[in-house]
Amino acid sequence: MLTPRQRSYALHGVCAALTLGSNPLDRHLQARGAGPGSSLLVNTTGWYALLFGLERLKPADAGWNPDGAEARTDGAFFVTTAVAALGGQALGAKILQWLRPDLVRHGGAIGRLGVVGGVVVSVLTSDFVHYSLHRLSHQWGPAWRVHSVHHSPEGLHILNASRFHPIDAAVEGVLEGIALGLFGFSERQHLAHLTMRSTYGQLQHCNIELDSGPIDFVMATPDLHRWHHSEVYAEGDNNYGAIVSVWDRLFGTFFRPERPLDSPLGVGRMPSFPQRFKNLLAVPFRWGAIKERNAETWYAPDNPILESRS
Ligand SMILES: [Zn+2]
Repeated sequence: MLTPRQRSYALHGVCAALTLGSNPLDRHLQARGAGPGSSLLVNTTGWYALLFGLERLKPADAGWNPDGAEARTDGAFFVTTAVAALGGQALGAKILQWLRPDLVRHGGAIGRLGVVGGVVVSVLTSDFVHYSLHRLSHQWGPAWRVHSVHHSPEGLHILNASRFHPIDAAVEGVLEGIALGLFGFSERQHLAHLTMRSTYGQLQHCNIELDSGPIDFVMATPDLHRWHHSEVYAEGDNNYGAIVSVWDRLFGTFFRPERPLDSPLGVGRMPSFPQRFKNLLAVPFRWGAIKERNAETWYAPDNPILESRS
């Protein structure tokens, strides 16, 4: 039986192995008639099954696992987020090609770094884009109306890792497509990056009892991300990283208190927040009505975020 610390080490090890093994597996599958990139489907399916099982066997909080209605909502977001994020990335690459074709790299020095070096650079790059946009989304009212959808769950699990408003996912996808296009990563590096991104995203949101210890200082672990979902704004306005915690450490938003997580999760000062797919899609356009519905808490005199996030 693994301790929570050993379990976190093991899951991070599996995540790294899937990332580094994505290209050999892809070549193996292609030799048997599968299309390029098929390893991504195989790896993510197996990974989700493992995390899903552990969420039932060793939950961090048994109350967080979703009921049927919540699972349907997050299943719909899984589809819309995948379409918006991947479509946004493709659009971002096209925009860069249209505006500054001279800046688009095809191969070159970055390819010579190999898969490991390429993933390090691509992860740091995409996470810098994510960090910047994410932090802005917590500090600027119009962006918070869109991003608050991701903070609507009252518990974390792998299914709601994809709960992003399509505008949120598409904007980040476009910026990421532009940023990554500047480097000209090889296809092998790109496949490993996509594998890391999708597997770590699920791990970060998982409802599994973990104690990541020193990993927190490099990776944006589930332990850190749970604080990010605290409904206490002073706690949640931290830990913006998606894969690594280095940007949070560098820019002073690394939050790792010694005590265990003891705050409820959700959108702070909005206890009555939409929870179903269609209603969540409408959140940015019905913000005034949602504020009125939560007027008693939102307009409380000691609300520190009323000005910046209205
Ligand atoms: Zn956030």
